[in-house]
Amino acid sequence: MLIDQIKLQTYLKVLILLSNNERYQTMKRRELFSSLASSFKEKKEEVKESVIRPPYYLNEADFHKSCIDCDDKKCATVCEEQIIIIQDDGTPKIDFAKGGCTYCDECAIACEKNVLKKENLQNINATFSIDLLKCLSWNQTMCFSCKDPCLDDAINFLGMFRPEIDKNKCTGCGFCLNICPTDAISFKIQKNKEEM
Ligand code: SF4
Ligand code: SF4
Ligand code: SF4
Repeated sequence: MLIDQIKLQTYLKVLILLSNNERYQTMKRRELFSSLASSFKEKKEEVKESVIRPPYYLNEADFHKSCIDCDDKKCATVCEEQIIIIQDDGTPKIDFAKGGCTYCDECAIACEKNVLKKENLQNINATFSIDLLKCLSWNQTMCFSCKDPCLDDAINFLGMFRPEIDKNKCTGCGFCLNICPTDAISFKIQKNKEEM
């Protein structure tokens, strides 16, 4: 009888230990998921804050240091393509809605605070790609809409029906973006080379 009682008590202790361990594991799992979720959220916010800058800058910090006190915002007024927009924080960003960048240097020449300088010329900080599911050509409907505006000849049509963007040739000018009838072209903003 006594032995049975001892056995029962031991069994109960093991059960409590197991359930505590399970609770501990569940807590751990929750902590892990919530830390993953918050790091994901931070990443999303990082991306949301990123913008495309005119292609003549060295450091993102220079915009925040100097553009605020720049009254004329000449970079935006001289851009013949009208793709430079001044944001609420006083810094310029490129918006491809009206066209693309011709790399004409005018914004860099006009910037009196040297945030943009001709010698800092680099490709626009965005990587372009084609969504194969949306692209007409990839779905057996002949379309070359994106080919002509690409002055850098960065869009290759493999066997007439399979356009691909050559990342080594693409300058990120943005001219192909709004010409696509099915919005199959998109871009991802990258960090400036100097800041990576
Ligand atoms: S002109 Fe230069 S300093 Fe002024 S807003 Fe444009 S980039 Fe900034
Ligand atoms: S290089 Fe020319 S087209 Fe491109 S953003 Fe500057 S002013 Fe506009
Ligand atoms: S963004 Fe790239 S692929 Fe598109 S037109 Fe410009 S160079 Fe060509």
